[in-house]
Amino acid sequence: MSVVLRVDGARWREHLRRTVEANPGLVPVVKGNGYGFGLPVLLAESARLNGERLVRQIAVGTYAEAPTALAAHPGDVLVLEPYRAAVPPVPGGPGLAVGDPALIHSVTGLDDALHLAGRAGRARVVVEGLTSMNRFGAPYGVVPGLLADLADRGLAVEGVTLHLPLGTGHLEEVSRWVAGVDGVRTWYLSHLSASELATLRTRFPDRELRPRVGTAMWLGDPGALAVRAHVLDVRAVAKGDRAGYRQRTLGAGHLLVVSGGTAHGVALEAPSAAATLRQRAITVAEGVLEAAHRVRSPFTVGGRSTWFVEPPHMQVSLLALPAGVTPPAVGDEVDVRVRNTTLLADAVDIT
Ligand SMILES: *Cc1c(COP(=O)(O)O)cnc(C)c1O
Repeated sequence: MSVVLRVDGARWREHLRRTVEANPGLVPVVKGNGYGFGLPVLLAESARLNGERLVRQIAVGTYAEAPTALAAHPGDVLVLEPYRAAVPPVPGGPGLAVGDPALIHSVTGLDDALHLAGRAGRARVVVEGLTSMNRFGAPYGVVPGLLADLADRGLAVEGVTLHLPLGTGHLEEVSRWVAGVDGVRTWYLSHLSASELATLRTRFPDRELRPRVGTAMWLGDPGALAVRAHVLDVRAVAKGDRAGYRQRTLGAGHLLVVSGGTAHGVALEAPSAAATLRQRAITVAEGVLEAAHRVRSPFTVGGRSTWFVEPPHMQVSLLALPAGVTPPAVGDEVDVRVRNTTLLADAVDIT
């Protein structure tokens, strides 16, 4: 009775190996819900790739994730969120040795870096540059001075990191940084395309360019992955029958109770701005259906999309299957479309 992420292990691991081999110095990003696999699975894969000398360093999103990563990964662990003097690294969590020799911190300014050095002794750091992403970082004009100040104070600066928006077209922005900031050999780069990276490697042959990759690595071969949900109950219903917390009326057909609800990340979409007219039209159309209590569910039965009886519950969903559609049996698995970055599967089955 569960939501299961089924992984074709041989195919998935082949994709991981190819991704890393195509990008020397690649830093796998292991964060959040572990891209649907959970952190332990990804940390085990990173450790395996480290054993094969394909991966040295991994990146985690937060300080809260760092202790688990340090315990599981034999190589270095970079923390993507910047160190802040004003923010306890692990609020209320287990202790983290900020001076751990395998830990690399992101810093964006001198005061934070000095606070870190005061706590950690000799801390390893990377300096984050503020890009068009406009999230965090030291502005372009400030970075050379910051690097000099950090070196003066004895901090081991291991490179500069740039986090770019999604999409292509970052070549000139990155080139300006790499060409304009002297004396930095290692550049960590997020969200560059393979061809952008290739061009940059040609332009800057004496620099080490290290892409940080999550989605394209762990989720880059969707054919190796399937999310399946067990059918827990099937009941024939007549027109006018009611079901659910909200007692909505049903049409004739079958009521399906399937595993998978908000606790699994099912039917949770990250807010997205409708970029195209077509997307906006779909949003409007779905809003109209929603107002009429007709909400398409992400579960598919025999290749057909299905409708929610009501919003998904914590661990299960109620689906309405119209008359004429052959219902699945209890224990069958149905496909469920879920964003891997919100998925919390009950089990990850790697075969
Ligand atoms: C999450 C993150 C990444 C990885 O992003 P993907 O889109 O999953 O590859 C890289 N760099 C930074 C700074 C991030 O926060």
